[in-house]
Amino acid sequence: MTKQIFPEVTLNNNVSVPQLGLGVWQSREGGEVERAIACAFEAGYRSIDTAAIYENERGVGAAIKNSGISRDEIFVTSKVWNSDQGFDITISAFGNSLKLLGLEYLDLYLVHWPVAGKYKETWKALELLYRKGMVRAIGVSNFLTHHLEKLLQEAEVVPAVNQIEFHPYLIQQDLFDYCVEKNIRVEAWGPLMQGKFTKIRLFAEIAEKYNKTAAQVLLRWHIQRGVITIPKSVNESRIKENVAIFDFSLSEEKMDQINKLDKNYRFGPDPDNFDF
Ligand code: NAD
Repeated sequence: MTKQIFPEVTLNNNVSVPQLGLGVWQSREGGEVERAIACAFEAGYRSIDTAAIYENERGVGAAIKNSGISRDEIFVTSKVWNSDQGFDITISAFGNSLKLLGLEYLDLYLVHWPVAGKYKETWKALELLYRKGMVRAIGVSNFLTHHLEKLLQEAEVVPAVNQIEFHPYLIQQDLFDYCVEKNIRVEAWGPLMQGKFTKIRLFAEIAEKYNKTAAQVLLRWHIQRGVITIPKSVNESRIKENVAIFDFSLSEEKMDQINKLDKNYRFGPDPDNFDF
């Protein structure tokens, strides 16, 4: 099995995470997700991002078990879904995820969305799971600055991660800076703009100069921005392509050109206005 060295970042509680992992939203439960993860492990990935709502935790667990890789070499993230938010219900949702995954602990557990009136109680449950050693790090997802401010008023544990939609059209510099100030690591979902990056000429133009693909240029931009990134694919050649990004770096000029694409544009839902 390939032993490629992926850079790691250290979270605010000293836990290390590979800076690049595999996202599995919309990877079908069973064979599809299992094959994607087997292929990712072969390519050197050691981090998998799933969630209860993706309904593929059983397949993720099977892929981990079948890989033969030791548990402590793999970083597994899951998330509590909105309808399971609240104290007791989150504890039992976590237990259910663990059971489906066939694991004894998680590496990272996230509050999937900032459900109004619920997320503070949900956070208390995550703090308990963390204190009991059931999860190595806890964090949030889709939290804007005002959600984080409210959470931090009462939190005993500062979230290690905020997983947000993040890509060149949606840099959210103020939120990013707030997370840096509070020592909360930004993790990018939708890093490949959910596949829409192919419509932006700049990536292909830069790719030609570096003899790389447009996807590799975009993912390299994420690495150099310092975020954790979790591109999704179930396609073997893309899974490999998406990690061949540690043998080049973008110049400051190219980074700036990409930064300038920012237009506060979301492909996904708005955390201030979602109804699920
Ligand atoms: P993404 O930006 O990773 O885009 C995925 C799509 O890009 C794929 O379906 C494929 O069509 C295309 N693609 C992948 N590699 C490619 C390549 N090399 N060349 C051309 N096209 C390529 O989108 P995403 O799946 O939304 O985000 C990644 C992960 O983030 C998810 O799988 C999930 O784990 C996580 N996520 C979290 C949330 C959240 O609310 N926390 C929301 C969405 C996604």
